[in-house]
Amino acid sequence: MASGAYRNGVHKGAPAASNFKSSSFKSKHPPVAAPGSGLRRSSSTSLGAASGSLKDDGGVPGRVRVAVRLRPRNAEELVADADFADCVELQPELKRLKLRKNNWDSDTYEFDEVLTEFASQKRVYEVVAKPVVESVLDGYNGTVMAYGQTGTGKTFTLGRLGEEDTSARGIMVRSMEDILADLSPETDSVSVSYLQLYMETIQDLLDPANDNIPIVEDPRTGDVSLPGATVVEVRDQQSFMELLRIGETHRIAANTKLNTESSRSHALLMVNVKRSVMGREAALSSEDDNSSHLVKPFKPLVRKGKLVVVDLAGSERIQKSGSEGHTLEEAKSINLSLSALGKCINALAENSAHVPVRDSKLTRLLRDSFGGTARTSLIVTIGPSPRHRGETASTILFGQRAMKVENMLKIKEEFDYKSLSRRLDIQLDKLIAENERQQKAFEEEVERITLEAQKRVSEVERNYADALEKERLKCQMEYMESVKQLEEKLVTNQKKWCNGEGPGVSGAEELAEVKKLLQNEIHLRKAAEEEVDYLKNRLGQFTQPEAGGNSEILKLRKSLEDEAHKKKKLEEEITILQSQLLQLTFEADRMRRCLERGGSGNAFTGLDSLMSQVGHLHLKDAGNGQRASIATLSEQVGLQKVLSLLESEDANVRIHAVKVVANLAAEEANQEKIVEAGGLSSLLMLLRRFEDETVRRVAAGAIANLAMNEANQELIMVEGGISLLSMTAAEAEDPQTLRMVAGAIANLCGNDKLQMKLRSEGGIKALLGTVRCGHPDVLSQVARGIANFAKCESRASSQGTKTGRSFLIEDGALQWIVQNANNEASPIRRHIELALCHLAQHEVNAKDMISGGALWELVRISRDCSREDIRNLAHRTLTSSPTFRSELRRLRIEF
Ligand code: ADP
Ligand code: MG
Repeated sequence: MASGAYRNGVHKGAPAASNFKSSSFKSKHPPVAAPGSGLRRSSSTSLGAASGSLKDDGGVPGRVRVAVRLRPRNAEELVADADFADCVELQPELKRLKLRKNNWDSDTYEFDEVLTEFASQKRVYEVVAKPVVESVLDGYNGTVMAYGQTGTGKTFTLGRLGEEDTSARGIMVRSMEDILADLSPETDSVSVSYLQLYMETIQDLLDPANDNIPIVEDPRTGDVSLPGATVVEVRDQQSFMELLRIGETHRIAANTKLNTESSRSHALLMVNVKRSVMGREAALSSEDDNSSHLVKPFKPLVRKGKLVVVDLAGSERIQKSGSEGHTLEEAKSINLSLSALGKCINALAENSAHVPVRDSKLTRLLRDSFGGTARTSLIVTIGPSPRHRGETASTILFGQRAMKVENMLKIKEEFDYKSLSRRLDIQLDKLIAENERQQKAFEEEVERITLEAQKRVSEVERNYADALEKERLKCQMEYMESVKQLEEKLVTNQKKWCNGEGPGVSGAEELAEVKKLLQNEIHLRKAAEEEVDYLKNRLGQFTQPEAGGNSEILKLRKSLEDEAHKKKKLEEEITILQSQLLQLTFEADRMRRCLERGGSGNAFTGLDSLMSQVGHLHLKDAGNGQRASIATLSEQVGLQKVLSLLESEDANVRIHAVKVVANLAAEEANQEKIVEAGGLSSLLMLLRRFEDETVRRVAAGAIANLAMNEANQELIMVEGGISLLSMTAAEAEDPQTLRMVAGAIANLCGNDKLQMKLRSEGGIKALLGTVRCGHPDVLSQVARGIANFAKCESRASSQGTKTGRSFLIEDGALQWIVQNANNEASPIRRHIELALCHLAQHEVNAKDMISGGALWELVRISRDCSREDIRNLAHRTLTSSPTFRSELRRLRIEF
């Protein structure tokens, strides 16, 4: 029992003096410190905390700290022990206590703190309890326990309220003051239970009816709790003081009822401190940065420190049990807990394998305080009286043994799921709201961009259409300009020609010569005829009298035959000369006319092409005299004869002959005769024989004129005229040849019966092919042909004899039609406008017309055409076609 004591100044105790000296009593806390905790860690006088280093499991070794407090002599002792010295002598600076054995001998003991009879309550709190309270605030369990004989000041030290004199406040009151000062009301909480343990029964000092509270042990952790005890949350110091007063009142009442005194019972104040550590930091960070909590994972932690303040029953009971009128059982029960505590502390101090914790309720409740994870301070209270020397000695020994008990401090920190869940809920709501805002903004942005894009697209479309229209107009202007230039050039050339720079003069001379020749020939012929007559007479004279000899007759016959042969030859020559004369007369006539009009300078410009529209491609304005002379000449020579010359071996003869025939064909009166005499076949043959350009041009012109007649049209067809004309159209380069061919085909286009054949033999394609030369006269013929064809086709469609798309569309004419629908030359424009109206009357064509751009032209015609009938026709056509109507609607064109 004397272990750990100094005898006569000799150190015998377990805790080495050096150990205490080195201990500055500064708390060395685990690294997880609460905010602001550093300030409070400065009390150099506090009871020493753990000086060991961190262990692997996070625990910190922490020996039970023990202080001894000497009560001053009370009034009785002052009187009764007046002649005696105190049984103890304190050396607080050395933290030593000397216990007198007698006048000359004493035992010396060292404690963690030695508190004299003059020690203030404040100082006692600071050295004994404050380090424990700080640990509790940091999340550790803590115990402050007073042990000592009844009347030595346990309750004075722990439980004084100090209501009259605040300096008298005990450890309970001061602890709560510090706790409340350090807590954050928003995140932290503190609650208390106040209990009494008497005869192994736990009573609730805050609810006296609750007088048998069971201890519940967590089978997993071994932690004990008292779920039956009243737990009151403490918000301020006043309410806590009130709880202490209530507890004290109930303690007195309970003890009265149980016929006992407070000194026989143990009082336990349990203070539960709950603090949110990281939760507070997360809350702060989430205030200034909305997104940071998404990136920074926060870990809300809750620290649950428990402070137990134990006011034990008087220690003298161990020895004196049963000596004061109690039954043995009762005495045992009263002191069971205290003696069990002593046994446990002994076992722990000696590192015994078995610690009888389960022997009493007190040891079960204090299992964490001794040998557990709590920071524990024990204050042993002693009196000065030598009469109680024994009690005092045993108290000191208890304290000495307790100093050997090593605890392993562990922070009571756990993950705060509730707080996390709450925080996540708030975050989630924030995110949902943010998301909704962003979604809305996004949709608005998309809408804005779409609108802008539409605006831009329509703007670009408009600009494009404008540019296209400008370009089209420009092209048209350029085209017209070049046509004009060509026409001017033509006029200049013709003028030159007429002024005698061409072959005109020599032509006139030649004419005079030929005329002379002809006169000669006529004379010769007359002379020959006269001679023949004379000879005939002579022959009659000879045959009648038969006087002449046979030989004479034979001779004469022979010469007669010779003469007849000569005559035939002469006649042939005359025919040729006559046809030449005919041609020359025609050409001379033309020249003269040219000369006559020379001043005006526009003899053969647009006028001629306009004339040709009605089909007369030659000599339309030839004077009556000339036509008459040609007719006379042809009569003189004989049509048959002229036609036969078309097949002459001599190319020159053929050229002259075809010109004569062409001029004759220009006269309607001659046409029938020419055809009857086989002229058409001969003309076609010229085309077939692939003659030179002039022959072909003139022949085609003649055919064109003949083709004005319906009967002739069929004949041309029967004789393969279409393919011949097509062939010529494909090969010819001279615009006039093309104009003749186009005119011929254009005439055929107007025949209802020939539609199919004309198309199948390539007539339409050939007609379209002629536009390549670009000459307005040719274009005019093409336009006329197309209009004719469209009209016939339209008629056939209406009658039901034609189905399907127009052959004009099939053969690719639409593009040209659309391009020339607004041609500046009115004859071309008119024909095409009519053609478009005809095409548009049939729904089968509508789609192609729309895609080919014809709709726009129709709209234009219906609005701008100067001819009212065509304008109305176009309008009617557009409004009666469902396809056009819907397209116009689609294009938002008011109609
Ligand atoms: P215990 O609880 O140990 O039985 P108490 O606290 O009731 O002892 O104290 C007994 C008496 O001694 C009380 O009247 C108390 O005021 C007085 N007393 C105890 N300690 C001191 C002290 N340090 N200074 C002055 N009076 C004291
Ligand atoms: Mg007491």
